Amino acid sequence: MTTKLSHSASPESAPHAVKGAAAGGERVGVLLPLALSGAYDYLVPEGLRLAPGDYVTVPLGPRLMVGVVWGPGSGEVADKKLKKVTDRLDVPPMPEGLRKFIEWVADYTLSPPGMVLRLAMRAPGALEPPRLRTAYRLREGGEAALPKMTPARTRVLEVARDGFARRSGELAEEAGVSAGVVKGLADAGVLEKVAFTTERGFDAPDLEAPRPALSSAQNDAASAIGAQVEEGGFETFLLDGVTGSGKTEVYFDAAARALAAGRQVLILLPEIALTSQFLDRFEARFGCRPAEWHSDLPARERRRVWRGVAEGRARIVVGARSALFLPFAELGLIVVDEEHEIAFKQDEGVHYNARDMAVVRGSLGAFPVVLASATPALETMANVWAGRYRHLVLSERHGPAQMPDVFAVDMRADPPERGRWLSPGLVKSMAQVLAKEEQSLLFLNRRGYAPLTLCRSCGHRLECPQCDSWLVEHRFRKELACHHCGYTAPSPKACPACGAEDALVACGPGVERIAEEVTELFPEARVALLSSDVLRGPAAYREAVRQIEEHEVDIIIGTQVVAKGHNFPLLTLVGVVDADLGLENGDLRAAERTFQLLHQVSGRAGRAEKPGRVLMQTYMPEHGVMRALLSGDRDAFLEREAAGRERLGYPPYGRLAGIVLSSPRLDQLQALARDMARLAPLSEKIDVLGPAPAPLALLRGRHRMRFLVKARREAHIQGYIAQWLAQVQVPAAVRVAVDIDPYNFS
Ligand code: ADP
Ligand code: ZN
Repeated sequence: MTTKLSHSASPESAPHAVKGAAAGGERVGVLLPLALSGAYDYLVPEGLRLAPGDYVTVPLGPRLMVGVVWGPGSGEVADKKLKKVTDRLDVPPMPEGLRKFIEWVADYTLSPPGMVLRLAMRAPGALEPPRLRTAYRLREGGEAALPKMTPARTRVLEVARDGFARRSGELAEEAGVSAGVVKGLADAGVLEKVAFTTERGFDAPDLEAPRPALSSAQNDAASAIGAQVEEGGFETFLLDGVTGSGKTEVYFDAAARALAAGRQVLILLPEIALTSQFLDRFEARFGCRPAEWHSDLPARERRRVWRGVAEGRARIVVGARSALFLPFAELGLIVVDEEHEIAFKQDEGVHYNARDMAVVRGSLGAFPVVLASATPALETMANVWAGRYRHLVLSERHGPAQMPDVFAVDMRADPPERGRWLSPGLVKSMAQVLAKEEQSLLFLNRRGYAPLTLCRSCGHRLECPQCDSWLVEHRFRKELACHHCGYTAPSPKACPACGAEDALVACGPGVERIAEEVTELFPEARVALLSSDVLRGPAAYREAVRQIEEHEVDIIIGTQVVAKGHNFPLLTLVGVVDADLGLENGDLRAAERTFQLLHQVSGRAGRAEKPGRVLMQTYMPEHGVMRALLSGDRDAFLEREAAGRERLGYPPYGRLAGIVLSSPRLDQLQALARDMARLAPLSEKIDVLGPAPAPLALLRGRHRMRFLVKARREAHIQGYIAQWLAQVQVPAAVRVAVDIDPYNFS
């Protein structure tokens, strides 16, 4: 493997030849990771040469801050006020590709560039030089300088002759002498000091390791991507394959080719799919762990990975959406697995969609991007239909595994008993599976015991004091929780409104309540409950997965944490407790997302030799989503969805942006919203809908109102919004969040 990126930013190796380099006495523009409108001018001190991409410390008010040299200074700051760059940091400069990408994302999302830069610098300590320790080894020719020898010194030399460097304590211990003896030999010049870091390095992926022979469809897909990887140049592929068709094998193959060509590789997964199973699979294929990047990483590990990527030592990274902003200098392939997942959309700060921005990064960096899914987003399919993305199809499961049979359980015809949620038909199937010593999975995308608690006596509903939402009962934790802000309170005995005792009733089921029902129905079965609030942290998650793999569990009950990426060979029955749940939510993607989620969950059944079955409990078996799931005719469903969206001018056939205003004070908020409505520029291609109270009209104690900007596809929606907001005076207490291509309409 190459390590040609052993950049050092020491003054000797300053990039004199770099375009745009500035010498002492000249100005540079430095972008800081703050919500400022652009780069600030600074003076380059004598003796320093700075080039775009260099990380520097500069004074800002009373403090020092790290920023990145962005280009020549603008001249806006008067000479007298100009401050000097303090220092350049010993880190490889930010590659030009990443700088261009940051600017692109800032323009597209209407975010200050510094806020996007911040995403690229989120690795505490990575910009400081690594902490070094000292070790000792025999100096070349050192034995010629031998001082007076003692038996102790001789023993040290005997150990040190192997040429390895050791900490002084280690060397002394191996030789059975005191540390003073080692020091004496170092002072005499026999041993020399070497600096080393205790940080773990990165294993090189083994590209020669035996790999599975690909099927011919898999091979066609891998070759198409591989050829593009080797040739270089931008192209987006949709790797469209049913669950279990071997998409992962295909993109591993493409990744191996990119690595062999000396490029770095990034595999993006929804955070939730970054499981131990995936990492084990990676290890089985490449003989090492990948570098990982996600929000749970300890600071030390972030530092190590960030620096490893910047220095080109980390060749392949598996990460959540924020990994897109790592400082790769030789990136040659991005894979976005489960590309349809809305987890790729960031809903705060810089509102970006990592799937779409991955395509942008590929286009700026001239390399291919692979989007993989069994249920591609409508946006992605529209790009395929328009000929912008290349379509690679895997239509069958690998090996003997077949797609599961999907049935609807009509809850009107086969209702559960009173106070129960599982229909007799589903219960019967579960009993059969249990008798065969296979596993079933019950899926319900609702954490907790019950989504609503109601007083039977006065009708009061328990609501979050800070949000416009109901409190969810978590019976195992004996508390009520708000799923929007995290507020919790102990479950009350009496109604807080009327004081009636024992009048509070739980309405509707969450997974905990289903677990209770299952335990009553099958007291002998071993039940596992998987939801994000029960499984805290990766270790608990890994343990749960292990128990299922080793058949220590008969019935799994879970939220969407179980929907993705798992292969459990004994799992032959999937029961969807409430297939209509996602359709209640009226947003424009409700049908599409319900289809994707339920299809994904169904894909857990029958992954190996044993055939799988899926039972969907529904009150609307005639609904389009249900019909598509039963018939398996995904493409017809997508085409119908597309026609509907096109008729209404919704994405991907039109463009949307959300603007959410929030403030602790409702009167102030309403006044601003009225002003803004008045100031909205007129346009033939763009409509402004609203203002209206947001569906979540109160969140964390802030009132919220929203506008929806709806534009024709060809309209420049960012320019329109920027022009509009430039006229608006926003009071300090009000926040304005702009969300281009929103996925969340709450
Ligand atoms: P997907 O990502 O499309 O859901 P996977 O890549 O997880 O599919 O493949 C499903 C299962 O089939 C995995 O256990 C995988 O190891 C196996 N598999 C896929 N392709 C091959 C192949 N060519 N040879 C051997 N096993 C394969
Ligand atoms: Zn709340």
